[in-house]
Amino acid sequence: MVAKKSHKRILIIEDERPMAKTLKARQEVLNQQRDIEYVRKDGTRFPVAISVSPMAVGGELIGAVEVFRDITKEQQVDKAKTEFVSLASHQLRTPLTAISWYTEMLLTDDKKGLSDTQEDYLNEVRLATERMIDLVNALLNVSRIELGTFAVEPVELDVKKVLQDVIRDVGVLAKDRKVSLVTDDARAPDRYLTDPNLLGMVFQNLISNALKYTPEGTVTVRVYADDTWLNIEVEDTGYGIPDDQRDQIFTKLFRADNVKAQDTTGTGLGLYIIKAVIEEVGGSIRFESEEGKGTTFFVRLPIEGMQPKQGSKPLES
Ligand code: ADP
Repeated sequence: MVAKKSHKRILIIEDERPMAKTLKARQEVLNQQRDIEYVRKDGTRFPVAISVSPMAVGGELIGAVEVFRDITKEQQVDKAKTEFVSLASHQLRTPLTAISWYTEMLLTDDKKGLSDTQEDYLNEVRLATERMIDLVNALLNVSRIELGTFAVEPVELDVKKVLQDVIRDVGVLAKDRKVSLVTDDARAPDRYLTDPNLLGMVFQNLISNALKYTPEGTVTVRVYADDTWLNIEVEDTGYGIPDDQRDQIFTKLFRADNVKAQDTTGTGLGLYIIKAVIEEVGGSIRFESEEGKGTTFFVRLPIEGMQPKQGSKPLES
């Protein structure tokens, strides 16, 4: 039995298998992630969905029943759907780029003959187009992650510089609002082996979320290295995450009720994308939050840096 982690396969030790877990915990174990494969005698593999139930007679555990299903076909259908999303997103980008260009030209070309109302309308068109381009890029990223086709290209660089570049871009979100953005990167390594695009996406997503979901207060970004990890912490004093929705925060297209009730925009894809990226390079992400008080996201990346991964495309940032 092996666990599938993107393109890697890891043998699952006896104690970690669903049957052993069921016998130990005396409760049903389901493999929800669908990332387990069985290995046939001839070495070929097939993906399985597993369910194991304990069996007890007179309160005494006498064994367990394991039922598994070959899900090769389901995974093929999933893959075909992902490929379709990838293709469709790609096709959508060309006309969107044209709309964006011409709107920009109308707005910058001396605005000849434009009334104030027409200019307002065009600004709305520009904003809506930008949002649509962001959504299409996020969908493309999701399909590249799910198909495992994205590349990781690490180079040695200064983490502070990547952070400052992102802050220059997203800092505008803090302007004109009662939010101050504080950075503490004195202990960030100035030489770290990382893919600048991917590290930038992690910073970009966490900091822009913190700013977006904090009506007033402070957003603090801490970056520091210890012996094993490069630690990134983004703390805010914003809306927080409702307790009953904690489990869904990293799932695709999910946006919590409390932020939907406010006038905020988003795709619900950012955290899903960066979690996949962080785990691909051997790191982890978690958060602590209290509704109405604020949220802190904690990211750990291996201090030895990212390993290169071949891929046909980079992720869109
Ligand atoms: P979105 O585009 O909606 O921001 P994300 O995937 O980045 O998508 O985040 C998913 C959801 O997680 C958000 O819609 C919001 O409900 C919640 N969330 C993320 N970051 C924060 C934060 N700093 N404070 C409160 N809620 C957050």
